[in-house]
Amino acid sequence: MSTIVIKLAKNELSNVCEYYQAYLLNKQVPHTHFVAKDGTTITAYISGKVMFQGSNAEAEANRWQTTTTTASSNELPKSFSQKSIIGSDEVGNGSYFGPLIVCAVYAETAILPTLKKLGVKDSKMLTDLQIRQLAPQIKEAVPFQLLTVTPEKYNKIQPQYNAVRMKVALHNQAIQLLLQKIAPTKPEGILIDQFTSEKNYRKYLQMEKTQVTENLYFITKGEQYHLAVAAASILCRAHFLEELERASKEVGYTLPSGAGSKSDQVAAKLLKKGGLPLLSNYAKLHFANTQKAQKIAEK
Ligand code: MG
Repeated sequence: MSTIVIKLAKNELSNVCEYYQAYLLNKQVPHTHFVAKDGTTITAYISGKVMFQGSNAEAEANRWQTTTTTASSNELPKSFSQKSIIGSDEVGNGSYFGPLIVCAVYAETAILPTLKKLGVKDSKMLTDLQIRQLAPQIKEAVPFQLLTVTPEKYNKIQPQYNAVRMKVALHNQAIQLLLQKIAPTKPEGILIDQFTSEKNYRKYLQMEKTQVTENLYFITKGEQYHLAVAAASILCRAHFLEELERASKEVGYTLPSGAGSKSDQVAAKLLKKGGLPLLSNYAKLHFANTQKAQKIAEK
């Protein structure tokens, strides 16, 4: 059990709050913005200090550190960024509306200059428009495997699969399918954008029927260590945006990304229109937004 405290600027703090939206604890602690528990306990203080407690504290804290820790890059083999690697990432975990998406990309050494030239980089540094323009070009350049869990399916399996287990299952499956696609070629390594400790990942992996266990590397901000992860992240995001847009057209309301108060308002409209059965097709019901929306709908 470790404790790590970092200091963040105000705008960064709101990103942190949005990210852990689904895991906010319903309790008021003096001098804090919020307390969340996602395996790790995250306490965000008014002062800007954020405390991470638990076995995965370091990985969670690293997610928000603006300066890259050199310790983590040492865990990867030398010249890792130039190797032929499968990278995987997920998107949608923190958004009330829309699916959960995981993507694995195989980027071999020879294609890396092409990806770089296309402008593949950390998707957080790209606009939604850039992401949507890049996605088809990435799909032409590299083998990939996308997996989508629709909100409908998510709500069915969420009671048995906690968020971490669900992600482990999806990453494992995407990697496995991609390995089949590129066979007999084998990657020099598989880099998973870290969302839980390696120990935890391997624990949940054992629950899967077939498991990719070898040559795995875990690192937070994985997109900084190999373009395969950056490309996977872009494909995830592009697909997520597409799905959200498709769902918005279908239901007749613009479904926002994230899990803020805008989401509550839109969810309340869906509840009035078709109750929980309708909402469950579009939103991850276990988020706190559902209860907030129910209160708004009752008014
Ligand atoms: Mg990620």
